Amino acid sequence: MSYAVVLRELHRIHIQLTDLRERLERGPRQIKAHETNVARAEAEVAKLKNDQKLAKVAADGKQLQLKTSEGKLIDLRVKLNQSKSNREYQALKDQIAADEMSGSVLQDEILEAMEKIDEFKKHIAAAELVLTKAKDEMARVQQGIRDQQGMLDGDYKRLEAELKTVEGGLPEDLRDTYNRMVRSKGADGMAQVEGEHCGGCYQTITANTMSSLLMDKIILCQVCGRLLYLPEDRTPGQKRGKK
Ligand SMILES: [Zn+2]
Repeated sequence: MSYAVVLRELHRIHIQLTDLRERLERGPRQIKAHETNVARAEAEVAKLKNDQKLAKVAADGKQLQLKTSEGKLIDLRVKLNQSKSNREYQALKDQIAADEMSGSVLQDEILEAMEKIDEFKKHIAAAELVLTKAKDEMARVQQGIRDQQGMLDGDYKRLEAELKTVEGGLPEDLRDTYNRMVRSKGADGMAQVEGEHCGGCYQTITANTMSSLLMDKIILCQVCGRLLYLPEDRTPGQKRGKK
């Protein structure tokens, strides 16, 4: 078997393994992103509920204030009816007018606060909808990733076994270089020749290098150091027995 045939096979397996590794690592990252979304939506609901609570407390305070002031007004009107002098009468009348004025301001403020509390209800409902959607989406993604992860794991184990088999058949003189390249660069330790270029760094390959490749020699790219091999349609028919 020519070096190119073995290297092409090994490179394919390494690329697939790298891709599978990335996909296996992507799953937990995706789940994490969804968890962040859910947490953000939860925080938004909690914040709105708290703001609504504060608005209710403020409105209750004003209502209590209004009730007290109304009680005071009743007393003042009683006193007004019983007033014995014009001066006292006028003073009470002014006091009542002032209290009625501040009471009406309070009523407006209470109305406004009620409207605000109603607004909060709408905002909370909307935020809760966002939260529900975020949770559903997370559950859907988690399920999808769980299903996919099992499949990817299976593919990964199968490819690892395939890699071992092909590596077992590596010609002795290629093994050391291959091991060194894969150890340091993984799938990037190899590159297919594309046209007149190294498929890894896209630098032009010299005519000398090309003819060495055609003679099925072990060749590293002079620029990037990748272990080079020819594509299938340019691989010489030369056979090399397994050693
Ligand atoms: Zn290169």
